[in-house]
Amino acid sequence: MENTVERVHCLIIGSGPAGYTAAIYAARANLKPVLYQGLQPGGQLTITTEVENYPGYPDGIQGPDMMINFERQASRMGADIRYGIATKVDFMETPYKVWIDEEKIIEADTIIISTGASAKWLGLESEQRLNGYGVSACAVCDGFFFKGKEVAIVGAGDTAAEEALYLSKLCSTVHMIVRRDQMRASKIMQERVKKTENIKIYWNSSTQEVLGENKVEGLRILDHSIQQTLDIPLSAFFVAIGHKPNSDVFKGWLEMDESGYLVTIPGTSKTNVEGVFAAGDIQDKIYRQAVTAAGSGCMAALDAERYLALKGL
Ligand code: NDP
Repeated sequence: MENTVERVHCLIIGSGPAGYTAAIYAARANLKPVLYQGLQPGGQLTITTEVENYPGYPDGIQGPDMMINFERQASRMGADIRYGIATKVDFMETPYKVWIDEEKIIEADTIIISTGASAKWLGLESEQRLNGYGVSACAVCDGFFFKGKEVAIVGAGDTAAEEALYLSKLCSTVHMIVRRDQMRASKIMQERVKKTENIKIYWNSSTQEVLGENKVEGLRILDHSIQQTLDIPLSAFFVAIGHKPNSDVFKGWLEMDESGYLVTIPGTSKTNVEGVFAAGDIQDKIYRQAVTAAGSGCMAALDAERYLALKGL
């Protein structure tokens, strides 16, 4: 069967805060953006509960509601928002080609990639069941709700170290579950964690189960060095075992780091392909906040607008 082909001026792939913000700016600049929402319309915020750290919402807002607002705002400005997943790309020459759902081909003068990253999970049934009820993959988002309480975090990279330190300032005790006898985090972060009195590290330990029916009430861990399980009563469980950037479809075309994050020229949203820009978590493994993603989406739209103007497109 022949693929249908559609020519668009500005294509945005992905629909978190970065993609929708890019769409708002691109639509207002008359770039007539077409945005494909991808696998998880609205992105990671649709699986969180209350967002209290996004400026402009003094009373907080539910993550899914916030993303509906972003989408409505982009639509109102004239962005064409569609369901669909980018399944293949060809950036050999302009106009660049993107296959949607393996059938339709979009030819675009410029492309903004905002496909985000997904948190990795341990894969326990209890972890999934209590997600949003004390299980979280973002301490900066959800730690505040457990002020003064005992919490746990699993992971031993820089993210886990940073989040354990963040939690230690809010919570009474932070139980840190490390699967080996050493941490992967940078030396300086390891030292900070080890020096913090209310962070208790459990070496050689794996998480067996998150305890609790409707909310987190504890954690069952197994200490492999003595083959003993231990139940720790606590109120929240943070998972910080890494993220996976959603960049597989761009392999071979765009420069990536060893973990698959797209590489952009510092201070810009430019990738190694002229006219292809990246915004949000797909190119940010450090900040990963809704507000930083939105900011970089704005940058990408402005970069795209300048590119089109320079090319006379
Ligand atoms: P990493 O991949 O660096 O670390 C993941 C951690 O989770 C590792 O300690 C790993 O253990 C552990 N882990 C993985 N799977 C499991 C599992 N199933 N059970 C228990 N533990 C598990 O991810 P990060 O998100 O920490 O960091 C990603 C990148 O971002 C790194 O390059 C990091 O340096 C960088 N970063 C930099 C920051 C900064 O500069 N401020 C802040 C945050 C991140 P193991 O060690 O045994 O493999």
